[in-house]
Amino acid sequence: MPLKLYSCANCGHWQRYFAPPPDCPVCTDTRNDLPEDGWRFLTAEAVRPMLQGHWRQLGRDMVAFSTTPPHGLNGTGWLLLHPEGNVAFEAAPFYTDDMLAEIERLGGIRFLAASHVHGYGALWQLQDVFRPEVLAIQKEDLWLTKAFRVTRPYDEALELRPGLTLHQVGGHYEGQAVLHDAGRRILFCGDAFKVDQDAAGNSLAVSTHKAFHKNIPLTPGEVRRYRAVIADLDFDTVCTPFEHAPGIGRDIALAVLDDQLRGPPEVRHIPLSELRRSPAP
Ligand SMILES: [Zn+2]
Ligand SMILES: [Zn+2]
Repeated sequence: MPLKLYSCANCGHWQRYFAPPPDCPVCTDTRNDLPEDGWRFLTAEAVRPMLQGHWRQLGRDMVAFSTTPPHGLNGTGWLLLHPEGNVAFEAAPFYTDDMLAEIERLGGIRFLAASHVHGYGALWQLQDVFRPEVLAIQKEDLWLTKAFRVTRPYDEALELRPGLTLHQVGGHYEGQAVLHDAGRRILFCGDAFKVDQDAAGNSLAVSTHKAFHKNIPLTPGEVRRYRAVIADLDFDTVCTPFEHAPGIGRDIALAVLDDQLRGPPEVRHIPLSELRRSPAP
């Protein structure tokens, strides 16, 4: 029997399996909720007619790919255009034929990577279709990548090209990595930060967690590690797998972490107005 791809109806995570898988490693993990009514796994043939593909140009030669209605965690796939080969970071839950045609029109994908499993989406599809030269995932998270083939596992950091570097930050997931794009001044921060936004996409508050649904805070050591990596990076925008947040720069990110280090560990959604008042580190 050929292996098939199955997407967890609860979180969207894709697995390559010989039958509907017995469970989903993302949902059984404490960092996500279990489905309340049992497992349901959908093949790619079942997912395809459920979703509509969208993309929007965000400036700085960047395109965001997404689908509606929401499927699973419902992340966004970021495509960074570059004359010497595009970079895709994180992935949409699924890529419809018109999304794939648009990526092809924009020059395909040379480098493919994701911050951690909540951003993987349908990474397998991008690898199958565009055959990128590099698929990079930090080595601690390799056990979650059976739907695709990691060609470039890495240790603490990996420079994809000058000015574009993956840095392991751990914390939320052991292998969580951020992608720093020095030219665009963007930090693709995975779930190191969560940005609360209104319906129009205006950022209202920022928080950081070990586990979002269960509201579990990071340990002080994990926060210090985030801080040690981020303090050296220049950026004025963050992109999580779910939010594009212009204006959330290094000072605001460090203020969130410093707030964690000052108090007892707890999850706090800190209003931006408060973070902007924080003294610069
Ligand atoms: Zn799941
Ligand atoms: Zn996450």
